[in-house]
Amino acid sequence: MATMKQARRGTVWIGKLEHGADLLDEITAVCREAGIQLGRVQAIGAVQRARLACYDQQGKAYEFFDLGEPLEILNLTGNISTKDGQPMVHAHVVLSNGQGETFGGHLAAGTVVFAGECIVEELLGLEYVRRHDETTGLPLWDI
Ligand code: ZN
Repeated sequence: MATMKQARRGTVWIGKLEHGADLLDEITAVCREAGIQLGRVQAIGAVQRARLACYDQQGKAYEFFDLGEPLEILNLTGNISTKDGQPMVHAHVVLSNGQGETFGGHLAAGTVVFAGECIVEELLGLEYVRRHDETTGLPLWDI
């Protein structure tokens, strides 16, 4: 059965991402500077190139792939929790090229911002910490 808990809405941050920044690092830095321990993130915009991943459930490891062309960010959605005492952003993206073809996956470091508009919503009242999960091999919420 799912484990769900109630959180309260905190501060909402809205802004633009820096051209040339690493998309995942940039959002993580926003969370670190704002002191966000739990929350959610969404963004749209464009990237110069992307590095995404898909989790190999048998091998219990991420398989990374690169998209070396300018792409639109149709949607970035994710959450913020903590791992090893630091905010950790877990985000997935759907990207599209000039033909409207879409690609998607788990956002990895190495995705470079062309332009981005981002909203981060802080959630209060809970502490979600990621710890190694034996079953999946993933750093899941220990709740
Ligand atoms: Zn993921």
